[in-house]
Amino acid sequence: MANYEYRGQLLTIPENDSEYRGYFEAAGEHKLVVKKCGNCGLMRGEPGPGCPWCTSLDWEWVEVSGKGTIYSYQIVAHTVVPALKDLAPFAIVLVELDEQSGQPTSEDGLRIVANLLDADLKPEKEEKVSIGARVEVIFDDEPGGISIPHFKLSGEEPRGDTWQHII
Ligand SMILES: [Zn+2]
Repeated sequence: MANYEYRGQLLTIPENDSEYRGYFEAAGEHKLVVKKCGNCGLMRGEPGPGCPWCTSLDWEWVEVSGKGTIYSYQIVAHTVVPALKDLAPFAIVLVELDEQSGQPTSEDGLRIVANLLDADLKPEKEEKVSIGARVEVIFDDEPGGISIPHFKLSGEEPRGDTWQHII
């Protein structure tokens, strides 16, 4: 059992936790990993032991580039988690990673949820967040050798249209 502290909260990762332990250990080495299905070969970012496309329980961690596009986002204006209260408002983004964009269908892809921060690991300003913006992973190193993957705007030109909620 490994215990870590993140912003004053206890984060416990059991030794036999195959769902998250490898993810945070890789992040501690500044590598972003996702699950790759051992049957169909598709990668997935969401938790869960089974492949959402072929239901196989066979998978392995694989490293990805951490580059992608904001597929959707939500601004959290009020949080019930005490450790995050001083960060609000902040953006939670759904990032479609480049490695599997548009696969297995144009409506589905390799997507992961994360916070959108600036280079100083502070929440990105709401007026800078938009669907279609290009992002890259950054790592927030925590005591104890783990790290939390987040994303920041990469500054690359968008590959298509962008959309932003009018503030
Ligand atoms: Zn599969």
